[in-house]
Amino acid sequence: MADVDFDLDQEVADLLRRGDQRYTTGRRRLVAALQAGEGPLTITQILEEDASLAQSSVYRNLTILEEVGAVTRIVTRDDFARYELAEHLTEHHHHLICTTCGDVADFSLTSATETSLDRALRRAAEEAGFAAEAHRLDLLGVCADCRAA
Ligand SMILES: [Zn+2]
Ligand SMILES: [Zn+2]
Repeated sequence: MADVDFDLDQEVADLLRRGDQRYTTGRRRLVAALQAGEGPLTITQILEEDASLAQSSVYRNLTILEEVGAVTRIVTRDDFARYELAEHLTEHHHHLICTTCGDVADFSLTSATETSLDRALRRAAEEAGFAAEAHRLDLLGVCADCRAA
């Protein structure tokens, strides 16, 4: 998010407007909770982040925000999906997904590593006649807490 003029609320409002949706107070608070959270959040964690949010409206609003491209859902091994702001609204990153407890943590690579990774991925895609535009890369494994337990 290098652009200092970037206005997250404005961007989300624009996405919602294109989907014929309004940026209600509840949606604004939900976006703020996702922004404040460390890494992708479960619905339980979102409600912990902002106790004024109601669970039923959080479900509905997450679905709408996902539909308009403002929120991404990360599905893990368990039933507890995690949500985060879409990458085009934040920063490119990757996830560490624990297959034991379902925890999801963000991690980033250096830009040099991203460049060589992109080059390798594009080459593989081109062989399939595929025009790659971006990549998603999540690691599956066991988190530090679960390994210690
Ligand atoms: Zn774990
Ligand atoms: Zn990457």
